[in-house]
Amino acid sequence: MTVSTESTTDVLIIGAGPSGLAVAYWMAQYGINARIIDKRSTKIFRGHADGLRGRTLELLDSMGITQRILQEGYHAAGLKYWRPDGNGGLKRAGQLRSTIWKSSPHRMALLSQGRIERFFLDVIRDSSSIDVERGVMGESLTYDESLEHDSQAYPITIKLRTLSEEEATPIPNPGTTPYRPARDDLEDLAPKRKHNVGTIETVRAKYLIGCDGAHSWTRKQLNIPFEGSHTDHIWGVMDVVPITDFPDIRWPSSIDSPHGHLLVITRENNVVRFYVPLQEEDEISPSFDRSTVTLDMLRERVKSIMSPFSFDFKICHWWAAYQVGRRLAPAVNKGRMYLVGDAVHTHSPKIGLGMNMSIQDGFNLGWKLALVVKEMAPPSILGTYKSERHQLAKMLLEFDQKWAAFFLKQKKKQDQLELQGLPEANPEDIQAMQDVFRENEMFAEGHVSFYKASLIVDKDSTAVAKHLTAGERFPQALICKQADGQPWWTSRLLNSDGRFRLLLLVGDCRLEDQKSRILALNGGLLALQKRFTPPKQKLDSVIEVKAIHSAPLDDVELSDFPPVLRQFDETTGWDYTKVWSDSECFWDEQCKGNAYEIWGVDRSRGAMVALRPDQYIGWIGELDDVAGVTKYFEGFLHEPRPEAVL
Ligand SMILES: Cc1cc2nc3c(=O)[nH]c(=O)nc-3n(C[C@H](O)[C@H](O)[C@H](O)COP(=O)(O)OP(=O)(O)OC[C@H]3O[C@@H](n4cnc5c(N)ncnc54)[C@H](O)[C@@H]3O)c2cc1C
Repeated sequence: MTVSTESTTDVLIIGAGPSGLAVAYWMAQYGINARIIDKRSTKIFRGHADGLRGRTLELLDSMGITQRILQEGYHAAGLKYWRPDGNGGLKRAGQLRSTIWKSSPHRMALLSQGRIERFFLDVIRDSSSIDVERGVMGESLTYDESLEHDSQAYPITIKLRTLSEEEATPIPNPGTTPYRPARDDLEDLAPKRKHNVGTIETVRAKYLIGCDGAHSWTRKQLNIPFEGSHTDHIWGVMDVVPITDFPDIRWPSSIDSPHGHLLVITRENNVVRFYVPLQEEDEISPSFDRSTVTLDMLRERVKSIMSPFSFDFKICHWWAAYQVGRRLAPAVNKGRMYLVGDAVHTHSPKIGLGMNMSIQDGFNLGWKLALVVKEMAPPSILGTYKSERHQLAKMLLEFDQKWAAFFLKQKKKQDQLELQGLPEANPEDIQAMQDVFRENEMFAEGHVSFYKASLIVDKDSTAVAKHLTAGERFPQALICKQADGQPWWTSRLLNSDGRFRLLLLVGDCRLEDQKSRILALNGGLLALQKRFTPPKQKLDSVIEVKAIHSAPLDDVELSDFPPVLRQFDETTGWDYTKVWSDSECFWDEQCKGNAYEIWGVDRSRGAMVALRPDQYIGWIGELDDVAGVTKYFEGFLHEPRPEAVL
């Protein structure tokens, strides 16, 4: 007998991959009544994506996750490339070196997606009762448009079915070594279901977020097409512990041999991921059947490409014949139902950006959605999810196309040289590869985002901060806490707890003029905070004010700063995280006191910067421009109703 139940929720997230977990993170931070479901009976433990770029690591740092990733993962700083040596062998032809370390503490980290999901689940559980409900999927979806503009209404009705173990458990590919779980994954090995198998639950929701991957059920229900390539690329991917005499096996490498192309991605412990294209860009055949691919085929393919070096393995953690096309959904929502991550865009794994984009999509939408659900901001801010993320998805696909075309050109050239009996690496080709890499590095790392002017991005800022741009990330710098001199990266100090931040770059607060300017800010900023903070909440619970001065730490006292920067709590005492100094730290050579130079701000006069909860710059102005920053917040924040509780 089928059991039926009914329920309501403010937000229902479908899919607990990286994008769904990023949305759920914000729901947890803001205390939203939200649920997240996934059709799999357990989280993933092995395989899938593994590369995290600089910007993603900055965001994860602000959630308290990055330290765990750095501790377990492999830190990549470049790519070695190997080419034919002209005598039937291979030779090391050069190295692409990332320059990203110059602008961020975070370089690329490589770690299994299962571990990254582990860390997300932990921070979500730490701050809420939200947990992934597994072994469940949607059966039908309806939307009542007439309720769309009623903020209290539930226009979405979705029927969820609890799946059997068989339906919810993908079968691992033959040849994988039995999994030895990490200790903190043990609890998640056992399937968890909210209801008995076969139960149909009718859920009415205010918002639905489809994070259900490339084959998104939600996208199909919304009738949103997935446009792009008609044929897919097929890659053999395997995570193994290699036994080899290849000298660069612990460096990420790209190998082009007369027998084919291979991408070697060094990973945690002794694991290495091998990417083998099973069909090159110029030889895609729709009739290729990926079910015919076996682990031994991949082993033999890698052996021949790496020869004359030896290659074999005894341990294989995961392998797949991964099929993917270059595709983009033209729309990201219908009414209050949104798509995020791979449900919107897919591309080749060669550029290693899908998980990064997906996390950043979820991170972009989540805080806006939470503000709307709490009626702290109008639903129109959700429009910025498309204007900010969809253009980046388009750029991502263009980049993927460009990168693939470049490799194809190189391959054709090499095939030609081989025909002429000159199969040696050409220095010009290597330079060309360096150039393409450099040209796209800032975009690939997520260090430029091109977010347009909108309700939440004011581009009419004055030129008081030469290197800051509204709509871009706030560049990371290492600064010292005034109270104890501890050096912190700004990504840690600006933690993702749901608050807007007003950064007072107060300049040289030893100067009398500057002191008066700082003291004069107090009344206006306290009034701004009061205006948007719900009754009975801490004054800094919606907009937090922090100061970063440019004077030496020892020349300044906390008591020099006005009350807006010296908040006191009867139970927890003074908040020591409000005032910071851009000065050298004598025990940390990385902390050079150069943050103002990084931001392009005058060390005497300073500036004021408003940051969104996702640490993107919303507004920049003169230090005294309280009226300007108030206008910025008035543009989208609602004043709370007296009874509202945050
Ligand atoms: C081999 C491989 C290597 C990759 N390497 C990289 C890399 O190095 N760097 C990088 O950035 N990206 C990489 N990617 C891409 C990356 O995995 C994806 O872009 C990313 O996981 C997308 O995240 P997502 O949350 O949007 O979707 P997914 O990770 O696909 O998650 C979707 C979730 O939804 C669930 N689901 C699906 N349908 C339903 C349904 N109907 N009901 C309920 N739940 C459902 C699924 O079980 C899954 O948990 C790689 C992908 C693969 C396969």
